[in-house]
Amino acid sequence: MAKQEFQTEVSQLLQLIIHSLYSHPEIFLRELISNSSDALDKLRYLTVTDEVYKSLPFDPRIDLEVDEPNGTLTVSDSGIGMNEEDLIAHLGTIARSGTKNFLNQLSGDAKKDSNLIGQFGVGFYSAFMVADSIEVVSRKAGEEKAWKWTSDGKSGFDIEPAERAAAGTTVTLHLNEEGKQYANSWRLKEIVKKYSNHIAFPIYLTYDKSEWNEAEKKSDSVRTTEQVNAASALWRRNKSEITSDEYTELYKSITGDSVDPLFWFHTRAEGSLDYTTLFFIPAKAPLDMYQAEYKGGVKLYVKRVFILDDSKDLLPQYLRFVRGIIDSEDLPLNVSRELLQQNRVLNSIKTASVKKILSELKSIATKDPDKYLEFITQYNRPMKEGLYTDHANREILLDLVRLKSTKVEGLTSLADAKARMQADQKAIYTITGGPESLLRTSPLLEIYKKKDIEVLILDDEVDEIVFGGIEKYGDTELKSVNKSATSEDFKSDEEPEQATALEPLLVRIKSALGDRVKDVRVSVRLADSPSCVVSDEEEPSIQLQQMLKAMGQPELPEPKPTLEINPDHEIVKKLLAKPEDTVVDDAAWLLLDQALLMEGLPLKEPAKFVQRLNRVLNLSI
Ligand code: ADP
Ligand code: MG
Repeated sequence: MAKQEFQTEVSQLLQLIIHSLYSHPEIFLRELISNSSDALDKLRYLTVTDEVYKSLPFDPRIDLEVDEPNGTLTVSDSGIGMNEEDLIAHLGTIARSGTKNFLNQLSGDAKKDSNLIGQFGVGFYSAFMVADSIEVVSRKAGEEKAWKWTSDGKSGFDIEPAERAAAGTTVTLHLNEEGKQYANSWRLKEIVKKYSNHIAFPIYLTYDKSEWNEAEKKSDSVRTTEQVNAASALWRRNKSEITSDEYTELYKSITGDSVDPLFWFHTRAEGSLDYTTLFFIPAKAPLDMYQAEYKGGVKLYVKRVFILDDSKDLLPQYLRFVRGIIDSEDLPLNVSRELLQQNRVLNSIKTASVKKILSELKSIATKDPDKYLEFITQYNRPMKEGLYTDHANREILLDLVRLKSTKVEGLTSLADAKARMQADQKAIYTITGGPESLLRTSPLLEIYKKKDIEVLILDDEVDEIVFGGIEKYGDTELKSVNKSATSEDFKSDEEPEQATALEPLLVRIKSALGDRVKDVRVSVRLADSPSCVVSDEEEPSIQLQQMLKAMGQPELPEPKPTLEINPDHEIVKKLLAKPEDTVVDDAAWLLLDQALLMEGLPLKEPAKFVQRLNRVLNLSI
């Protein structure tokens, strides 16, 4: 059969893998073993759930065989196997949507890149780091024919009919110079222990063992087969018997991550429902966290039988960065993907798991704030998503998010902001509507600066939507300083007088601006600026209205701000003295436009702004 070409991306990827992973090529073995383990999981699942497969033998094992003289290493399994089509699809193309991203993300830094490779599941190709050529002989369960796939990893691959006594896959590596070191039983045992000890199936190693022959006073080479992994489901053991290293190893083997996890939560529930959960928080947010087609990170087992690992229904979407295992005693083995969603048992496990994860996080936040900071630096955004979507857990999520503030460097919790409140402070205040630098210089903050009151800076794009729906933290009100009514908190006795005195000017300004503004009012929140714009209680901020409009909701009406005027400002006092003068018209517009500019909002008519500015300048020179 003619040689088939690799999909272009495969060749590109191969080159990159070989060059970026040179510093620890040993991970190729973890990748091949994990593929075998996946293949065994798949077959086991079918033999318990599918009528056709039920009659097939299932004798799960993974075999490593070393042939030192010939320089080959073989990894074989009695798993699901691949037919001709599968071989072409799985080993000749990269069907995954994440691959393009993967290629873009590669940095050339070996440590980082090997981590990426695990996340994107391009594991098989890593074997070309240690092999000049690879043969894969495979026979799919339930089929008679076997096929051989051969490639040097450069020019493409060949496929031809082959023989295999039973279903499964045999991968033979013709080791290259770099790979020679792996034709060694000690080295292999060490690598298996390190990466694959908790693979649920036995891994056997066959090699030439030298044994002392007392009779002939020489050592004999004896072909030996030994099991080299623990093959136990670590999560079923008692917490107290498991070391941190074992947890970390398991994490690495199930995720392909090369960095230790931040923390893990291991729970055994007994009673009305029996299940075990083991959740890990990766040190770095998974790369697909912000992609719509992210991969779910939790594996579902039923009585230690692997069921599936790509479901997005095992945890709520905002916890999509969590990795780990749910192992239930109560679910039926043949629970179907469709039924999973409405399954009562699984829903209870899910609810309890979310509570567990959040409460563990909260206790870390209290006990070890530095460690928690590492967490929140990666995962603040998904926690905020949770605030928006998971109403049942809103209280605890409010304790978990961290925000910027006018009072402290870095990030603060709402609890700390609450503790810092002044005796007569009526609410915890927040400001939204733009990047941090803009928010920090907003005129809206002037009264708070003057009174030394803390304001939380909500500069993340999602903040306004998330916090817009949240009125309270515990029994303390949360208020946005962008809202007109928030300044009620600062009303003083002299105001009605000021308002009466200012009334003619307000009327004048209102008539100059027409329906460009909703209203013109006296402000109590300004100190240094003559004016500012705010929005009403029930409507989103002007920035958000602007954004929604830009995002294709053109039927939204033009956002109309309320203009507030600072009665104590020099300009305003002067304007009040000459209400009949035409300069007031120009001033009215300039007061509005400068307030909009300070909020980072665009001017509707920049040309007119400049004309007015020049007229006023001209008068003052
Ligand atoms: P991943 O394991 O993340 O899918 P790999 O590059 O490691 O990516 O493997 C690609 C695909 O090749 C697998 O998804 C699987 O379909 C197939 N495959 C690889 N090794 C085996 C095997 N030993 N038995 C059956 N299928 C396999
Ligand atoms: Mg793999």
